[in-house]
Amino acid sequence: MLRLELVNTGTELCLGDTINTNAAWIGQRMAALGIEVARQTIVPDGGAVREAIEEAAARADVVLVSGGLGPTNDDVTRESTAELLGLSMVQDATVTAHLEAYFTKRNKPVSAATLRQAMVPVGASVLENAFGTAPGLYFPAELGASRGWHSHIFLLPGPPREIKPMVENCVEPRIRALTPDGASRQVIYLKLTGIGESDIVEKAEKELQAVPGLELGYCIGKGDVDVRLAGQAGPVATGAQIVRDRLGEFILSEDRRVLEEVIIHTLTESGEWLATAESCTGGYLASRLTDVSGASKVFGHGFVTYANEAKEKHLGVPADLLQLHGAVSEPVARAMAEGCLQVSGANHALSITGIAGPTGGTEEKPAGTVFIGLASLGQETVVRRFFYPISRDRFKLLTSQAAMDMLRR
Ligand code: ATP
Ligand code: MG
Repeated sequence: MLRLELVNTGTELCLGDTINTNAAWIGQRMAALGIEVARQTIVPDGGAVREAIEEAAARADVVLVSGGLGPTNDDVTRESTAELLGLSMVQDATVTAHLEAYFTKRNKPVSAATLRQAMVPVGASVLENAFGTAPGLYFPAELGASRGWHSHIFLLPGPPREIKPMVENCVEPRIRALTPDGASRQVIYLKLTGIGESDIVEKAEKELQAVPGLELGYCIGKGDVDVRLAGQAGPVATGAQIVRDRLGEFILSEDRRVLEEVIIHTLTESGEWLATAESCTGGYLASRLTDVSGASKVFGHGFVTYANEAKEKHLGVPADLLQLHGAVSEPVARAMAEGCLQVSGANHALSITGIAGPTGGTEEKPAGTVFIGLASLGQETVVRRFFYPISRDRFKLLTSQAAMDMLRR
């Protein structure tokens, strides 16, 4: 397996002023390619960049460096790498033309500092940057042979919108070509919901581990868990079938779609409408549903009825029901869902009433208790009780996830 090291440069990353999102994104992309991301280093702009590249190049098969290719004095990645490899630099005509065209279009002069970006170390290849001025550079492993290195070095710009397409278009094809079976490698993600990581492991891991050539990984997402299967097509297909057989009812998608996307898509296909009536989640369920483009075709009504009066006034929940059972109860969840169905005219209505905590609640209904109702035209209303005694934001996340999962089933 190829070992890759990532060097992220930028004082702003060290200070915490900019979150190192490049590292997270590149880590995932490389893992999907079957590359071992052996180390990530963050260094401030300046002399530390050279040191970090030198150390990484001595260890890794591939070194990806982000940032420090720009026109300012603290951008030293290009020069540092050329120095390390003992390469002289020449001005590249194509890059110069690209820079001139870029600035002319914006009615700006091309300064000497800008033209530093057109300097290319001899032997390195230019990687086109479609979204910015600084091109990337690729140094094939031969260039470091005299130093005893076997490392392919890529220099890429820092801004995420520039680096992402360059990793996809310039870096990944080269890395695939370096791996003998890279081209035929597959990666699939089975997204599961309604089950925790430890239960997944218990139900399927032994069998998955026994498949030769199958690489297995888990990633906890927003209320769901990805099972990542990688390797050659055969083992990946065998692994996927094991997950389907053992955990089929929990599989939400096989194309990385999250629950709200699956729900909106399924409703769109069937031409059905959904409405929501939320208390303790304060509209979080509606917010997640409307994160999906095209939600307006299937989602028209989202009520936030936080107070009892609101539940009475907007959903027609009887006052004596609230009195008798309390707002956080099975009968009230039922009445909210059925009221919501009627008022909205939708095909399905989800209701949520609970105690988000962390304080409040009673012995019988401690903080974290929540009732979720699902009323559907022509069907018995279903109410389920859940218990999420966690932080408020996690409570909202898991409750909205459980609600959508009730509809999915
Ligand atoms: P520029 O021409 O913009 O100077 P550059 O290649 O020199 O490009 P940097 O100066 O290192 O790149 O970074 C430019 C901006 O990109 C930073 O201010 C920051 O907002 C963003 N950026 C840099 N590195 C990262 C990273 N690892 N993760 C997320 N954002 C980053
Ligand atoms: Mg810069």
